[in-house]
Amino acid sequence: MSGPRPVRAPRGTELSARGWQQEAALRMLQNNLDPEVAEHPDKLVVYGGTGKAARDWRSFDAMVRTLQTLKQDETMLVQSGRPVGVMQTHEWAPRVLIANSNLVGDWANWEEFRRLEALGLTMYGQMTAGSWIYIGTQGILQGTYETIAAVAAKRFGGTLAGTITLTAGLGGMGGAQPLAVTMNDGVAICIDCDPRAIERRIEHRYLDVKADSLDHALHLAVEARDARRPLSIGVLGNAAELLPQLLAMNAPIDIVTDQTSAHDPLAYLPIGVDFDDMASYAADKPADFTLRARESMAKHVEAMVGFQDAGAEVFDYGNSIRGEAQLAGYERAFAFPGFVPAYIRPLFCEGKGPFRWAALSGDPKDIAATDRAILDLFPENESLARWIKMAGERVHFQGLPARICWLGYGERDRAGERFNDMVASGELSAPVVIGRDHLDCGSVASPYRETEAMLDGSDAIADWPLLNAMVNVASGASWVSLHHGGGVGMGRSIHAGQVTVADGTPLAGEKIRRVLTNDPGMGVIRHVDAGYDIAESVAADRGVRIPMREG
Ligand code: NAD
Repeated sequence: MSGPRPVRAPRGTELSARGWQQEAALRMLQNNLDPEVAEHPDKLVVYGGTGKAARDWRSFDAMVRTLQTLKQDETMLVQSGRPVGVMQTHEWAPRVLIANSNLVGDWANWEEFRRLEALGLTMYGQMTAGSWIYIGTQGILQGTYETIAAVAAKRFGGTLAGTITLTAGLGGMGGAQPLAVTMNDGVAICIDCDPRAIERRIEHRYLDVKADSLDHALHLAVEARDARRPLSIGVLGNAAELLPQLLAMNAPIDIVTDQTSAHDPLAYLPIGVDFDDMASYAADKPADFTLRARESMAKHVEAMVGFQDAGAEVFDYGNSIRGEAQLAGYERAFAFPGFVPAYIRPLFCEGKGPFRWAALSGDPKDIAATDRAILDLFPENESLARWIKMAGERVHFQGLPARICWLGYGERDRAGERFNDMVASGELSAPVVIGRDHLDCGSVASPYRETEAMLDGSDAIADWPLLNAMVNVASGASWVSLHHGGGVGMGRSIHAGQVTVADGTPLAGEKIRRVLTNDPGMGVIRHVDAGYDIAESVAADRGVRIPMREG
């Protein structure tokens, strides 16, 4: 009987599969379940609530077995975490094709999904859990760094030095906020109602200090701001109470956002409830709890709008807090924008997004060498250089050593080809896998997040992620995935991913050049189609063909 057991990807150059493409998929599947990487490896859960790498342990074993014997002209088909077939294809075809959590439109809700999951017919793949390219919290840190850097560029002359950011939520994702702010030279006040969340972030060096009170936090923040010294300050309390208090005090806050787990009202602490009673209250009286949590979120969001009215830069950070506040009857809930339309969309127009790679050798020296290659390839990009240097110093690897950075159209292919050359020359001790998050420029339809407020109103058009998956298959990616749900839940998004292996061969070089050009190219054409000027000029300058502009 197969059951839970510790899983860890092999390191080094000895193959247990018939080629590096298959070996890479095998190691990345195993790496996603490494206890250093996965949140609940015994349940095959990698991250994001219930995001899994395999449907059950029998399916996991069958995938391992199949990948170990899969030939260079064969493709394994995975249906929601279970291998369902092996087909003869050809050497340019992906070795693995994955479809996770997809349901037909009218059936695409949590209730139906959970019914089917209980029958053992599907699993939740999140974005990079079921597509085997999750690299731990580094991904979150970099995304948060990039967003905060975009805020700095848009409103504060490229740096947060001399500014104070106010936020709440120091959990799995939200815990990256204080470090992302200090990496951009700013000061952050971060509220959480769970003392352990604050302690954990201090332990992991994501948060600098804990204040004794709100007044103390504000005092420390103003002192550091005036000295233009980066500092992050944790403060214990309920954000729905502390934000209105800070507003009433006329606290000099420049930026406000939030990453409490507002997307799930049973995970947001209502005003008047003790943190210690939260779990039992939510379990015993979910309807009552939900009502009170939403009312509290309305107060929280009202204070955020108050800060905006007072001149602060305010944005929703992808946790649906505006939607929940609106459900509680607060009419101005959508007065501030989501982070994608506010800061990220211009990057998407250039085909930029969370590019990432992992060293199959397991040797951190390989990542250090790729870091140097990135600095060498893009010397003019200061924000990128700052990230790569700081990541080299501060990011602790989880599982196989990996790196993430945002690169755009015309950049990712250059990086990929350089890595492939470095494998060929022996500068890297083993092949690397090159992939990305599904949260990318041209790979997702998600009207509450990545495609919120598109210029032409095409938020819910889901042809784009399907085309993205197909173009990656046609271009030579090593594995391609097409998922439903992701970070925003069932019925709310469709998204695609690709991973391509740089094994140092000329064939891999050819595939990398096509995949890493066409994949970000989807971001450019998607945004040209929606009418974005930046995308138009990127397409014109860099030679992306748009048939409707050629006639
Ligand atoms: P988490 O559950 O690990 O952490 C949430 C934290 O909020 C906890 O520490 C909890 O104690 C705290 N909290 C809850 N209610 C509070 C209140 N009233 N006052 C103060 N603190 C409170 O969640 P996470 O993984 O950090 O994710 C946070 C949110 O961000 C989620 O809603 C998630 O969906 C969203 N998210 C967005 C993006 C994005 O693309 N921007 C990415 C990941 C996650």
